[in-house]
Amino acid sequence: MMQRFSCPFCGPRDETEFFYGGEAGNERPEPAENISADRWAQYLHMEKNENGRAREIWVHLTCGEFFVMERDTVTHEIYKTEAFHGEQK
Ligand SMILES: [Zn+2]
Repeated sequence: MMQRFSCPFCGPRDETEFFYGGEAGNERPEPAENISADRWAQYLHMEKNENGRAREIWVHLTCGEFFVMERDTVTHEIYKTEAFHGEQK
């Protein structure tokens, strides 16, 4: 089933343009441009499998931007997408 995801920077695109980066946890890595590959890999391996609503990190391959997608992993309903840097508060 082809889905369309909404990149916060480019708008709705086919899911084939996106790459799943892992689950967004409580402990967030530094902005992507500042993070080492080791640290990023460590963060991604913390991902856990949960049913239902989840916050996930995705990459839009066309623009190369990381963003957070909030969706239901069972129904695949997408609640929202937001720029990854928007996580900083
Ligand atoms: Zn994009």
